Amino acid sequence: MKKLTLILLTLLILSGNSFAQEAPMTMARAKALVERPALNPVPSLIPDPNRVSIDTLDTSDPRIKLILCSDGTWHYTKDHDLLNDDSVYRRAWSAERANPYNVAYDDLPFRSIIWLVDSTTTFCVPYQTKVFSKFGRRRGRQHQGVDLPYPKGTPARAAFPGKVRIAKRFGGYGNLVVLRHPSGLETFYGHLSQILVEPDQWVEAGDVIGLGGSTGRSTGPHLHFETRYLGYAFDPQWLIDFETGTLRHGVFVLRRRYLTPGSTYVPESEDEEEQIYLTEEEERAEEERIARELAAARYHKIRSGDTLSTIARKYGTTVSAICKLNGISPKTTLRVGRTIRVK
Ligand SMILES: [Zn+2]
Repeated sequence: MKKLTLILLTLLILSGNSFAQEAPMTMARAKALVERPALNPVPSLIPDPNRVSIDTLDTSDPRIKLILCSDGTWHYTKDHDLLNDDSVYRRAWSAERANPYNVAYDDLPFRSIIWLVDSTTTFCVPYQTKVFSKFGRRRGRQHQGVDLPYPKGTPARAAFPGKVRIAKRFGGYGNLVVLRHPSGLETFYGHLSQILVEPDQWVEAGDVIGLGGSTGRSTGPHLHFETRYLGYAFDPQWLIDFETGTLRHGVFVLRRRYLTPGSTYVPESEDEEEQIYLTEEEERAEEERIARELAAARYHKIRSGDTLSTIARKYGTTVSAICKLNGISPKTTLRVGRTIRVK
């Protein structure tokens, strides 16, 4: 045991500050803020129930402990008592309110850099499946998360380590669990048949926080999963590919515009990657450009006899431009009464 400890401590010293939260600057790009591990997805990790912690060791950072397990593996964890004093868990802590922050949209940062995983923070997909109902507008209402269908009684797992903020019956959510994570990110798990955690409890990624169900405003067993930052929901698909169960980024650059209700996940292109390097002024200009574009948007309500080409002609645009704006194909059936964007 002593010998193993010594070896591990030596390893720890040799590995240096591998858990430090500062990323090295990319020298080639003057504007770079963070190194981008974005293109290397992080696989989901379900903890092995047979792996039992046998010892806890201190590290040079008092907040970080090293846990030794019975199978000879080890991992870092954060000291929860010290973590409790972290402003992330002090600010706007409420077991009653879905959004306790009261931050006006205009006061939100243009861009927040969120460390999703590091040496102390792992990830586990809450439930791996194809997304049934997406984030965004749905039958005239806002859908603040994604719906993941699963059989009643299926374990719902914590996506990241963190602290339970809400664990109770909560209106349309039914039985709801809300977790706050070290980055300030919050995750919501709704419609559970059973809640298996209590407010203020610490959880690790992969811990079962409840069982699947259909409580609240729900038409069948599914997990309603939300991601929020400073109280504002954004499309969880920015972070997680639910079908493959992988995290898309180790570090995520959350732009303010993602926090608006209509903003849905778009697979990142090379352009998106380039935008990471925008300065704050460029980011502001980009937001203003998008706002102007939205203000100039024109819509058309489909009437009987309309085709994409007659509509395109009427508004002096093209079929392909309309398809692009609405995410439809030229072959899409135009349902009478549906509103589409034409400019
Ligand atoms: Zn839902």
